[in-house]
Amino acid sequence: MANDKKYQGSCFCGSVQFTVSGEPAAMGYCHCESCRSWSAGPVNAFTLWKPEAVKVTRGAENVGSFHKSPNSHRKWCKNCGGHVFTEHPAWSLTDVYAAVIPGFPYKPGVHVNYQETKLRIKDGLPKMKDLPKEMGGSGAELAE
Ligand SMILES: [Zn+2]
Ligand SMILES: [Zn+2]
Repeated sequence: MANDKKYQGSCFCGSVQFTVSGEPAAMGYCHCESCRSWSAGPVNAFTLWKPEAVKVTRGAENVGSFHKSPNSHRKWCKNCGGHVFTEHPAWSLTDVYAAVIPGFPYKPGVHVNYQETKLRIKDGLPKMKDLPKEMGGSGAELAE
């Protein structure tokens, strides 16, 4: 682990700081209603990490948490309201928003929950109807 690459992340105001290290398990875009509603954006650019790869290094006391469903514990900065990451305990993965780790070389590989899209993106990447089979979805793909 000592040689793992480390990337700095922070909330909008900088009072919450964290690092991600190593390689993410997956990267892509989520179009689901929950991501859109919580982020107030049309699509969520995600990077999924093992929970131990994500470490809050400053301002842990400022991290708020909310969960509407048991598999998504959403974290944000209580000072500025900026979103930082979402823990998915059932998958043992943490979604760190690509936008809050600006130095990380984000390379999206897939779009998920495309059946809920409000913004079609014709980038040639696979469009999953919901989620991959290994995450409890149908594994079905849709046209762009
Ligand atoms: Zn903040
Ligand atoms: Zn989503």
